[in-house]
Amino acid sequence: MKIKLIRDKCISAGSCVAIAPDVFELDAEGKVVLKNPTGADEQTIMDAAKSCPTQAIEIYDDSDKRLFP
Ligand code: SF4
Repeated sequence: MKIKLIRDKCISAGSCVAIAPDVFELDAEGKVVLKNPTGADEQTIMDAAKSCPTQAIEIYDDSDKRLFP
């Protein structure tokens, strides 16, 4: 599983950080950054991506097929 962050879309809502605090964090600009891509199980990371109101978190499988959104 690969995580791609579309930082321009991030509006600092923080729900991804609330769901997966070991995977995502907000930087000094209040935009999402990757803290540790293996900091949670895949279902939790997917739940975090789905929680994002602007779909700023994209999930791909290891063959680069998009799983979400
Ligand atoms: S949930 Fe989306 S908008 Fe909110 S901090 Fe995470 S990436 Fe940014």
